[in-house]
Amino acid sequence: MYMNQQDFIWQTEQFADIRILRYRIEGFEQLSLREKTFAYYIYRAALEGRDIIYDQNYKYNLLIRRTLECIINHFQGDRTGSSWSSFLEYAKRVWFSNGIHHHYSTEKFLPGFSINYFRELLAVVPQSVMPVPDGMTMLEYVDLVIDVMFNPDRDTKRVNQEAGKDLVATSVCNYYEGINQQEAEAYYAALTHADDTEPTSTGLNSKLIKSQGKIFEKVYHSDGMYGKAIRRIVMWLHKARHFASTVLQQQSIDKLIEFYESGNLKSFDEYSILWVQDTSPAVDFVNGFIEVYGDPLGFHGAWQSMLYMRDEAATSQFAAISNQASWFEENLPVDPLFKRTEVEGVSFKVVQVITETGDCSPSSPIGVNLPNADWIRARHGSKSVSLGNIEDAYEQASRQNGSLEEFYLPAQQKRIREHGLKASKLHTALHEVIGHGSGRLLPGVATPKETLKSYSNTIEEARADLVALFFITDPKMLELGICDSPETGKAAYDSFMVGGLLRQLVRVDSGCQLEEAHMRNRQLIASWVFEQGRKNKDVEMIIKDGKTFVQINDYEAVRKLFGALLSTVQRIKSTGDYKSAAALVEEYGVQVNRNIHEEVLARWKKLGIAPFAGFINPVLVPETQEQTIRDVVIVYPDDFLAQMMHYASVCAALPIINDRSFSAIILHQHRSPSSFFVSLQG
Ligand SMILES: [Zn+2]
Repeated sequence: MYMNQQDFIWQTEQFADIRILRYRIEGFEQLSLREKTFAYYIYRAALEGRDIIYDQNYKYNLLIRRTLECIINHFQGDRTGSSWSSFLEYAKRVWFSNGIHHHYSTEKFLPGFSINYFRELLAVVPQSVMPVPDGMTMLEYVDLVIDVMFNPDRDTKRVNQEAGKDLVATSVCNYYEGINQQEAEAYYAALTHADDTEPTSTGLNSKLIKSQGKIFEKVYHSDGMYGKAIRRIVMWLHKARHFASTVLQQQSIDKLIEFYESGNLKSFDEYSILWVQDTSPAVDFVNGFIEVYGDPLGFHGAWQSMLYMRDEAATSQFAAISNQASWFEENLPVDPLFKRTEVEGVSFKVVQVITETGDCSPSSPIGVNLPNADWIRARHGSKSVSLGNIEDAYEQASRQNGSLEEFYLPAQQKRIREHGLKASKLHTALHEVIGHGSGRLLPGVATPKETLKSYSNTIEEARADLVALFFITDPKMLELGICDSPETGKAAYDSFMVGGLLRQLVRVDSGCQLEEAHMRNRQLIASWVFEQGRKNKDVEMIIKDGKTFVQINDYEAVRKLFGALLSTVQRIKSTGDYKSAAALVEEYGVQVNRNIHEEVLARWKKLGIAPFAGFINPVLVPETQEQTIRDVVIVYPDDFLAQMMHYASVCAALPIINDRSFSAIILHQHRSPSSFFVSLQG
């Protein structure tokens, strides 16, 4: 249990480019026993799906992860020295990224120890405990593991977004097999109709496969792909449903179970509609195939679960935003044709995360807005949550690490110290509630992922950020009492411009360009506004002591520029203008200014702060009496490795290699030097 805020350990360790943090849950003790019990069962359901994301990210991730865990559990030799710590660091990086590709850049990272050392480790582990896939000999297994881990030319990129390349063929995420981009796009285009007013999210829960000239989907459900994990999720959902807080919550769980059992996306939409209407329970959760960033074409959803409870005090602070959704829509600086005429209730809550697994853990978002289906959002609204305790943990851990002083001018530093946390929370709220929820497609225009294709995520994030930036300095904020000073909006502008032009570049290796949608979006906005604003010196880059800083001289003028760009970006989305989307993203969002990048990397290196952070999750411990839960208490572990090993021991339902019917093909394609001809059945 934690003491008070000062004594709580926010950061436990740092390795490679990663910091491991912890977050606290405030107010769990005050929940009713019914709510705590519900939370506990949903927590267990959340753990069960963890293996899925590893396999979705790359078909050999489970093979590698289990091999590493097996060594940690059974290696009897010397556990000291630099090779052993390199080995542990590699294992931690794999856990952090849910696989062998970097969670952010999606590039494969290589072990910092030698193949010989790895062979030594394997040699001392009893063969009987090694995770050798069925049908493979020990020799073949070892060859495969070594080639996958150490070969710098093999399976190098999880999600490739480079224009002009076959994005499917050059990405190794496990959503496609034996198929190219053109075939995949044609397959889904044939399944979608522009005049369908309630289109299902085609492909969300499947892998697309071409075998013997035939293209088909392998669907994730109880008796399909990932069935073993899904059946366990369903088992816990069955237990949880009895402790639901509302009839709607129970109905939505029943629909979710139906979806998991059938794999039918219509059920998923029905579930989403029930879920979005159910706004009253204090404890709520997401569990499913949700975000599509891990698929270069944006069809297939990565599995994730997030369990959270409402933070009543913080929520009421921001209630004014969701209550004013129509006012915001009316005042958007975009063509009235692209505005929503009826604004459905947008529910915004600040929540305390209780646990996260899958795609959203250990690296966590700070805000979530679901469901993703555009037509459900337009007709039934969306639920938007800001992860208050995650934001607090980031903030607490990064206080006084020197990055503020390094990248901001003194006046900006002062403003951010006083108003930064508020600005960032307000930005998140506006981005999620008003941003993603606003605007509409013109009738007859297909969904953005069909029209804007690989640019759709970047355009959508840019739209949401621009809405937030446009309104955050609006006098309405003060009028509604949402913020108490015009300085809050200015702090948001400072940190957005500095972030987009300088600070975020610490996340990208020297010589690389931007790939990730949120990074592309931030640079797109910041560099477009910078280019427009420099003529009148509304915003400029200044050099001080050989360091580059961004200075905004006229905040009102910069606001107008955000509004102008928003008008363009909204038109692109509403009309499905692929050409303009491509031009805008490629011109402003992809290429990095080499000189600035090198400078930023050098400045960051001196600070010695890992650019990425993620979390150890709290543990829910039930206190039972005669097989009935009498209470649930929260424990805060402080060892990342121990938590990962614990997860591996309690939830490892999936086979080492999933999708058995195709593993024979996979193995033949990637035959390693020792040449094995394995035919895997089953
Ligand atoms: Zn967003």
